[in-house]
Amino acid sequence: MPLEDDETISIELRNLGYAQIAAFDQQATDGEALIFYENSQIENAVVYRNKLSGRVGNYLENYDVRIELHGNEITNICTCGSDRKICTHAIALLYGWINDAADFMNLSHVLADIRKVAKSQLMDIVANIIQQQPHMANAFLARKKMDWDEIDPEPFV
Ligand SMILES: [Zn+2]
Repeated sequence: MPLEDDETISIELRNLGYAQIAAFDQQATDGEALIFYENSQIENAVVYRNKLSGRVGNYLENYDVRIELHGNEITNICTCGSDRKICTHAIALLYGWINDAADFMNLSHVLADIRKVAKSQLMDIVANIIQQQPHMANAFLARKKMDWDEIDPEPFV
């Protein structure tokens, strides 16, 4: 079982085993995800509580996938745009998790370290991030994430 002593990781992710993933695989991709996983690399792998994310594939073909586990339910978002409930890449990421959980960056640990950094130093880091990627300013300034039906299409009328 992956990182079973780390309580920052949800119990669902710590208890995940081969049998459960093989069952997801059979149901969703008829076993093709295992073959995809065996021929892929996983980059930017992150675990955060009950969530996994990463880039799965090779230099010709790769996908950014995010997974959330709630009990036995799994939800996934992937840049492949598949209309399957769980796509091949999500299952490949799950195989990556149970084989190499220690290679996933644990965001809870990173955040715990960031909390110790002085605010003035954080401001310097934020300035660097926004200078390199100006669109990130929106991520820092968005105070509330709005649902689509809360956005007023004509706010000045
Ligand atoms: Zn996908």
